[in-house]
Amino acid sequence: MYLKYGNIEHVYRNLLSKYGVRSQLVIFMEELSELIQQLSKLYRSIAFGQSFSIEGLLSELVDVDLMRDQLLTYINISYKKDEIDQLYQKVLDEKFNKIVKEGFQDER
Ligand SMILES: [Mg+2]
Repeated sequence: MYLKYGNIEHVYRNLLSKYGVRSQLVIFMEELSELIQQLSKLYRSIAFGQSFSIEGLLSELVDVDLMRDQLLTYINISYKKDEIDQLYQKVLDEKFNKIVKEGFQDER
């Protein structure tokens, strides 16, 4: 299962019901843009030694994680949950295997 904190799907369902998926999608996009901003700050700290707050980056990673789980809950509501779980796992396995293979290439 993709949900990181166990079965809190009902919490996400309630939020989706309360605010609507359109509103939650906009918030997800906003959180993604805030994460991009933090990644840019991390880049500038590495490349140019500018100041950087790790707390800011972690905060945006958590925001994106929570909105990601909420989106996956919406997808499960809207499509056949078992098929989505299977498809998600298939795509995850393929991509994971690809990066593992790539990561091991230099060690040979
Ligand atoms: Mg945020």
